[in-house]
Amino acid sequence: MLKLSNLIGGEFTPALGGEVLENINPANQEVISTIPRSNGPDVDRAVDAAGAAFKLWRVTDVRERADFLEAIGDEINIRLDEFAEAESRDTGKPISLASTLDIPRAISNFRFFAGAIRQEKGEAFHGQAGLNYTIRKPLGVVGLITPWNLPLYLMTWKVAPALAMGNAIVAKPSEMTPTTATLLGEVINKLSPTPGLYNLIHGLGNEVGEPLVNHDGIAAISFTGGTKTGGRVAACAAPKFKKLSLELGGKNPTVVFGDADFETAVDGAVRAGFANQGQVCLCGSRLLIDESIWDNFVDAFVAKVKAMKVGDPGDWETQVGALISLEHRDKVSRFVEKARALGGTVLVGGKSPRLEAPHKDGAFYEPTVIVGLDHGCEVVQQEIFGPVVTLHPFKGEAEALALANDVQYGLSASIWTRDLARAHRFAQSLEAGMVWINTWLMRDLRTPFGGVKESGMGREGGAYSLSFYSEPQNICVNV
Ligand code: NDP
Repeated sequence: MLKLSNLIGGEFTPALGGEVLENINPANQEVISTIPRSNGPDVDRAVDAAGAAFKLWRVTDVRERADFLEAIGDEINIRLDEFAEAESRDTGKPISLASTLDIPRAISNFRFFAGAIRQEKGEAFHGQAGLNYTIRKPLGVVGLITPWNLPLYLMTWKVAPALAMGNAIVAKPSEMTPTTATLLGEVINKLSPTPGLYNLIHGLGNEVGEPLVNHDGIAAISFTGGTKTGGRVAACAAPKFKKLSLELGGKNPTVVFGDADFETAVDGAVRAGFANQGQVCLCGSRLLIDESIWDNFVDAFVAKVKAMKVGDPGDWETQVGALISLEHRDKVSRFVEKARALGGTVLVGGKSPRLEAPHKDGAFYEPTVIVGLDHGCEVVQQEIFGPVVTLHPFKGEAEALALANDVQYGLSASIWTRDLARAHRFAQSLEAGMVWINTWLMRDLRTPFGGVKESGMGREGGAYSLSFYSEPQNICVNV
């Protein structure tokens, strides 16, 4: 069996305590590998190694950094199939998704930030008080903490801009999806001009994540994960005045108006609801439908969901793979039972599918559509983070807006309409960091990514990321 290691100062190494955790394939419950069960002293070593690397890396030429990032992207591209298979095995996601979305996006992250720093401009101010120029300096050693749903995609979204701006990294992926972060370590080790730029510590949130957040040698924490964990991270980081970026949960609305292009909207709502088994923070888990098209839209939506192929993540035809774990599958199932108890009607799904060996004990759950729930109930208000979409009718724009905004989260939304003025008016009134009109998850990497309300703090993407991973310094010359 594969034994994954931490990466400290360019050396793959076990946890100091020698303990390990099992990494389980959620689709068949087989143990894929063991990972080090690390804790505080391992984090200390990684921060020291990163601190040493930072001294060399901070003074490198921007062109050298850009070339390095570009080379990492190229090397992942050469190993794309290996990365995609590892991602699909760790997460249970369909191989088609890992191969066409997760890994290509990780490659794009490196290529994009290589281009971004080549083009970065400084600032100068004059004419009022001397000549001022502003430079951006790296922060030092940054801690990156990521979840299990889009493991490499989200990790590289932080690694690339952090390295681009001259920082060194200690990364902590979810213990349920450790493999691609380790493969990335191999790639970086092969290409890195300096050992210790990317250090990787495997283990549990409270045993590795928390010591990392608390570590005095860590200048900033970039965290993507659940809202509750984000609150804990913020509480630990705040007294130490660490720079903090929080990308948290969502309970996003898909709003379909009566004049929407019907077929495109149905397809868009299905994709938004069930991509990656509904385990994307941006998923449209609340589907708000204009009452003028309610019957037809519900029928068409349910028919499409019923036709989705659930099963073997390794099969290229599969559209819905396994959830991340049996525990998570059971949590999703409890929400559906709660929905039934609250008077909701399950139109499709609502149970685990019967699959053949080796997947019969996997963490699968059928894509599920529920109607008839009060919008204020916990099933509609809380993030389920699984393949469950609730449907709600609305009459008129004002009611649609009130429903769309009626949650504690504010990450994203998608609107489907052919009325241009309404599309813009409605988008601007939504309490959401990101709004899509007649599409979902269309991404330009220069745009601000992040949420309002309990969906987070700060933005990632383009100049926003470069700004997060650096501090401006102004220098004023008396002329
Ligand atoms: P968690 O919040 O449980 O975990 C996220 C990461 O934090 C994991 O690596 C976890 O480690 C670690 N962690 C746990 N406790 C602590 C702690 N006390 N201190 C520091 N780190 C800790 O989220 P999930 O992994 O369950 O991911 C799902 C969540 O992520 C959903 O809510 C989803 O919406 C959100 N998300 C948000 C995105 C966004 O961009 N806004 C994008 C993707 C997901 P361990 O796994 O060992 O517990």
